[in-house]
Amino acid sequence: MRELIGRIPTKDPGVTEDVYLSELVRCRECERTVPVGIEVVTVRKDRKSRDVLHHVYYCRAHGLDYETRAQSVPIRPHAKKQRTPDEHLHK
Ligand SMILES: [Zn+2]
Repeated sequence: MRELIGRIPTKDPGVTEDVYLSELVRCRECERTVPVGIEVVTVRKDRKSRDVLHHVYYCRAHGLDYETRAQSVPIRPHAKKQRTPDEHLHK
């Protein structure tokens, strides 16, 4: 099982931290192997390539910060900037 929780944007617009919920991971902080943990993959995406810059695993306690941040970012693969109806009213 490997489930994408969310993608955290970084300062670099081409780089995201993809956060997954993964089975049987070994936490890099406490070095315990847990049934379900957090996997964080830092990726740089160009038009054609996808480079993994960093790849770490945490138990859910140590990965809680990533899990929380990832869940607060909505996954919108084809997000377009659209004006809300309210913004038109102020024009
Ligand atoms: Zn841990």
